[in-house]
Amino acid sequence: MSDPIRNFVGGRWSVPDAVESLAVVNPATAERLGDVPLSPADEVDRAARAASKAFADWRRTPATERVQYLFKLKNLLEDNFEDLARTITIENGKTLDESRGEMRRAIENVEVACGIPTLMQGYNSEDIARGIDEIMVRQPVGVAAAICPFNFPGMIPFWFMPYALACGNTYVVKPSEKVPLTMIKVFELLEVAGFPEGVVNMVNGSKETVDAILEHPTIRAISFVGSTPVAKHVYAKAAAHGKRAQVQGGAKNPIIVLPDADIEMSTQIAVDSAFGNAGQRCLAASLAVTVGEARASFTEAIAEAAAERVIGYGLDDGVEMGPVITPESKSRIEDLIGRGESEGARIIVDGRNPKIEGYENGNFIRPTILDGVPATGEIFGTEIFGPVLGLMHVDTIDEAIALVNSGSYGNMASLFTSSGAAARKFRYEAEVGNIGINIGVAAPMAFFPFSGWRDSFFGTLHGQGRDAVEFYTQEKVVVERWPKEWTRKF
Ligand code: NAD
Repeated sequence: MSDPIRNFVGGRWSVPDAVESLAVVNPATAERLGDVPLSPADEVDRAARAASKAFADWRRTPATERVQYLFKLKNLLEDNFEDLARTITIENGKTLDESRGEMRRAIENVEVACGIPTLMQGYNSEDIARGIDEIMVRQPVGVAAAICPFNFPGMIPFWFMPYALACGNTYVVKPSEKVPLTMIKVFELLEVAGFPEGVVNMVNGSKETVDAILEHPTIRAISFVGSTPVAKHVYAKAAAHGKRAQVQGGAKNPIIVLPDADIEMSTQIAVDSAFGNAGQRCLAASLAVTVGEARASFTEAIAEAAAERVIGYGLDDGVEMGPVITPESKSRIEDLIGRGESEGARIIVDGRNPKIEGYENGNFIRPTILDGVPATGEIFGTEIFGPVLGLMHVDTIDEAIALVNSGSYGNMASLFTSSGAAARKFRYEAEVGNIGINIGVAAPMAFFPFSGWRDSFFGTLHGQGRDAVEFYTQEKVVVERWPKEWTRKF
């Protein structure tokens, strides 16, 4: 873990000269893992130029050949699976099993992208007029870039990069400055897979680096995942510089529990959703809305399950929840818990300032439950991004759906019920992009788009699957006239 944190540009590892850096810190142990360079605009320029130079040959490489690199990458990721998962846990704090789940989804995206010879096909019509045919082909966009958040250091670049490369684009990844180590390992494997020089590049940094990517004239497509305020900045700036953009923002995800739900199963699923990844997941349940009689039994069961959660270092056996990412994040979350109380909610499980033996310097918060979150308060609409679940109670499913639709985000909502009719009503009326029915984390598989509506997504085409293929290609339509008379001379 003590290797210098480097960039990978034009097939070579390097650290930009004389730039500022930030400490990368294990959130459970407070151990300093390295220093990440904050790359300036000229480093982004180097990466964009390298990618642009590589594009000329890469786009002419047949898709069937391009996917051979991805097959190699898939095997390398499998061979290094445990090491990658451990690295995620060390820099991000999530449990080893959560890290394994993250890497599995990363690999699944590589597998789906291997279908590109079919996925990228266009379509055609013969004789749109006598002797005239029309065809649509998909061509790569050019140089594309991904700007990534801290909470899934291994998976999120894979929602985008495999599709971009398979489609014939060249690529620049900007990992989160809080968790750059997993991508270093991934790029070491990309190097072994033998991608030609400049096809894949990585530039570390933060705001200045991101702005340089958004302003660079050679970079044509931007994939971003992060918080909504930054997402809005990225979307506006990408548009101002003429780029296509798919921009995923924050979330505040409600789950609804109806009186006919299986309370034991719903509680187990809800507790995993709210406190898995220490609540630092864009699909984490952060509000649970009970309807009618579900209130008493669900409140009691979820409070018990939350209090029992085993907290500690993600590499240790039996640990069910790790720390949050930074001390700043911990104090922000603890302040928001206090804010919830001052707005009228009751703290029925209080996870603030726990002492975790052996990890006294870690950023730990135990699961916390705020009961009776008022719909008019700040907490109702604020993304806490920590292990905090708010409870609300209403009398009808219509009131519950109205609450889902009154927040500004639209990433995920789930319903717990044994009624098909209620499930249909909910999935029809809820204004969010990812819906769960008796599911706590409705994360779309790699062959479905990772959706998101309203303040959780800006753009039209999402990451993963066919959406990613459309995002990373531009359609070219050709109209051809070949009258049959012209063949007579042969
Ligand atoms: P963040 O917005 O702080 O950072 C995301 C990226 O933007 C990082 O690479 C960072 O370097 C860069 N950045 C930060 N501030 C910037 C600025 N002012 N200008 C330009 N670039 C800037 O997000 P985070 O804390 O790393 O990640 C957590 C957030 O990501 C949460 O809001 C979470 O909901 C969201 N998220 C959303 C999804 C989704 O699918 N919608 C998935 C994962 C995470």
